[in-house]
Amino acid sequence: MATKLLVSGATGFIAGHTIERLLSRGYHVVGTVRDLRDETKHAHLRGFAGAAERLSLVQADLLDNDPFTPHADVDVIMHMASPYVIDVKDPQRDLVDPAVRGTLAMLKAAALNPRVKRVVLTSSMAAITDEPDGRVLTEEDWNRKSGLKRNPYYYSKTMAENAAWDFMKRHKPPFDLVVINPFVVIGPSHTKAINTSNQLLLDVINGTYPAILALSWGFVDVRDVADAHLRAAEEGAANGRYICASDVMSMSRLVSVIARAGWADSNIPTMNLARPFGTLLMQVASFSQPAGIGSYLRSHLGGVVRFNNAKIQQDLGMSFLTPAQSVKDSLQDLVKWGHLSAPR
Ligand code: NDP
Repeated sequence: MATKLLVSGATGFIAGHTIERLLSRGYHVVGTVRDLRDETKHAHLRGFAGAAERLSLVQADLLDNDPFTPHADVDVIMHMASPYVIDVKDPQRDLVDPAVRGTLAMLKAAALNPRVKRVVLTSSMAAITDEPDGRVLTEEDWNRKSGLKRNPYYYSKTMAENAAWDFMKRHKPPFDLVVINPFVVIGPSHTKAINTSNQLLLDVINGTYPAILALSWGFVDVRDVADAHLRAAEEGAANGRYICASDVMSMSRLVSVIARAGWADSNIPTMNLARPFGTLLMQVASFSQPAGIGSYLRSHLGGVVRFNNAKIQQDLGMSFLTPAQSVKDSLQDLVKWGHLSAPR
């Protein structure tokens, strides 16, 4: 039975919910943060029940040499830290290097400590596919299309997860690796910072999208993603990769859920460009967008997201909040943090 866990990237959106849950289950947690002096980023963690007695924070940057080795005297490691940004200046430096080097540094730290029994790696649907192509995605699928110029965030997650499995094959360490592959994570946040995926909801409400586009997303609530990590740590029989997603929602449905939740009078798009001609138009218009966003639009417009989440339900006993519920809770949370006005 694990008693102490290491969670990297403790300041993150998913990590906050995970650490809160781990503490509530009585575990001791060591959280790594990039900059210990920046209280604004981690003060919320100190407020969790049990934090005063059982949470310690240490400093570790993914790009340092051996950042995790001194902290790996734990039973289970959750490696969550990785840059989650869609548009960056230098994809190799800003995305791939920290994702891959950080993952390998964590596995190396784990291999040096005989106490470690399991590493749970937060990968992504981005390591499963580069684009929604209508096929039913399973854990067998690997993203083989992304690159430094095409969906570089996706590429960074694919390279990092691939490096992790390769490490396991080459070094055969005495711990096992379990990988969680969440789709688009939304839900309430512990801090005012807006996660890249919750920003999507704000963008739709604030009129950033000129029209309803042929886009759809596989959504999963952040509370469920935290739960999946906890179960992956506790369930002895957990193995391999796990698609972690609730259901698919099109942009058209998302807009109607937002309208029905009370924001019908916001700047949500009304013009429907989700048909083939609109998609063609938007494919052309995508070239005027910043590189990362343009590449995302070209590979996702018109695509149909489909996946099979049976493995995580069967092995880990997961059930999921519906995307509509998560969207509504996220909107309330955006109001709470002052990012959105409450509906009149
Ligand atoms: P956040 O941006 O909230 O968290 C990312 C975390 O990684 C932060 O703690 C951040 O620290 C840390 N980090 C980034 N770069 C470095 C670095 N160079 N050194 C040390 N720490 C670093 O995102 P999420 O919580 O959403 O993401 C957590 C994990 O989940 C990531 O691996 C992400 O790829 C994955 N994921 C997220 C999805 C989503 O939709 N949100 C979907 C699928 C996977 P700091 O606060 O200092 O920046």
